[in-house]
Amino acid sequence: MQVLILGSGVIGTTIAYYLAKAGHEVTVLDRQRAPGLETSYANAGEVSPGYSAPWAGPGVPLKAVKWLLMRHSPLVIKPMLDPAMWRWGIALLCNCTHARYELNKGRMVRLAEYSRDCLQQLRADTGIRYDERALGTLQLFRTQKQLDGTGKDIEILKAYGVPYQLLDREGCVRHEPALAAVRNKFVGGLRLPGDETGDCFKFTQGLAQLAEAAGARFRFGVGITDIAHDASGVTAVHTDAGPFRAERYVMALGSYSPKLLKPLGIRLPVYPVKGFSITLPISDAAMAPASTVMDETFKVAVTRLGERIRVGGTAQLSGYDLRLDGRRRHTLEHVVTDLFPQGGKVEGAEFWTGLRPMTPDGTPVLGATTVAKLLLATGHGTLGWTMAAGTGRVMADLIGGRKPEIDLEGLGLARYA
Ligand SMILES: Cc1cc2nc3c(=O)[nH]c(=O)nc-3n(C[C@H](O)[C@H](O)[C@H](O)COP(=O)(O)OP(=O)(O)OC[C@H]3O[C@@H](n4cnc5c(N)ncnc54)[C@H](O)[C@@H]3O)c2cc1C
Repeated sequence: MQVLILGSGVIGTTIAYYLAKAGHEVTVLDRQRAPGLETSYANAGEVSPGYSAPWAGPGVPLKAVKWLLMRHSPLVIKPMLDPAMWRWGIALLCNCTHARYELNKGRMVRLAEYSRDCLQQLRADTGIRYDERALGTLQLFRTQKQLDGTGKDIEILKAYGVPYQLLDREGCVRHEPALAAVRNKFVGGLRLPGDETGDCFKFTQGLAQLAEAAGARFRFGVGITDIAHDASGVTAVHTDAGPFRAERYVMALGSYSPKLLKPLGIRLPVYPVKGFSITLPISDAAMAPASTVMDETFKVAVTRLGERIRVGGTAQLSGYDLRLDGRRRHTLEHVVTDLFPQGGKVEGAEFWTGLRPMTPDGTPVLGATTVAKLLLATGHGTLGWTMAAGTGRVMADLIGGRKPEIDLEGLGLARYA
């Protein structure tokens, strides 16, 4: 089957790989000069099925008010006259009940755990390297109140069979020895030993090469302008390099997906949630993190990626604005210098921003649309790297006419109908 994939972020590229391996004729279009140069470029590096949960949960509206008042706030809202933003915000608030949280989390965990298994298999099959580590992740608590408040999270982890360790200060230091130097700054942590870490951009680049070796074609520097359709479904994808046609079309345009779907009458509730990261070279390996340390107070993740430290966080609602904001950099620098003061030098860090393609229920949107031949693989929000391999497998199975290995209940566009 001829398949045209729109977008070569981690999602589009992973789908291309699985489809090409299954013998399909695959072409991938992207406006950038290489794969993975937008949101998949410098994320926090966590492959974290253990933390797969929607942002919308009970108590979040109250917490949000508190966060907005913090100096190093994890949440920033730039009020705008953007109806899409307000619609999305209200839909997110509607998902903050216990019942919705349970439902959404269950759907996310289903895909994330499958994805971790697919990633491990993919690694075994291909030998792909991406500064990966399988050393778990550690949520670090600075206050006793945070540590005492883990009860509900632990209940959920138990309910989903996710292995965990509740650690005191010395327990944290055992897994993250560099924290010994700042042991007075935290009281304990929650460790998820099944989580992994790795560089999403390196993975995307490496997998694109493997997809090409399997026959996929990547066309870079191609801006997609619109999707033509008639009663039979999609007839062509128009670009600044001319029209492209195929038997199936997969949209994996991340935060930009709703813009191209709107003219087709498809309303996709994905909104860009801006995040930031800095990447710094390690100056003393013994004083750097071993894996990911997630600072619960600032909601900032500090991750070891080979010889570098990646520090990522912040959720900012400000539309498609990609400007770098020095105040956000300051927050990231504050966390890494506070926890790993001798780990790396922040002066030489690369500062980056990306737009998480977020749905109000946290769950991505996979599968068919109301327009024939057009499928979606988007809306992965905070967890696109975690869910990429599973998404690739599911989409390749759907297009190849095979039954996906996981139940797709609640993962499609129909849930918004
Ligand atoms: C600060 C931050 C930290 C994060 N940390 C983590 C983490 O630790 N773990 C995790 O699992 N996830 C994390 N994420 C989320 C993850 O990075 C995203 O979910 C994922 O990268 C989304 O991938 P994607 O392929 O859908 O989108 P993208 O990577 O944005 O890919 C979309 C592609 O479409 C192309 N495109 C868009 N419009 C057009 C057009 N009109 N014409 C042609 N091409 C177009 C773009 O060039 C781009 O290459 C984080 C995100 C941020 C911002």
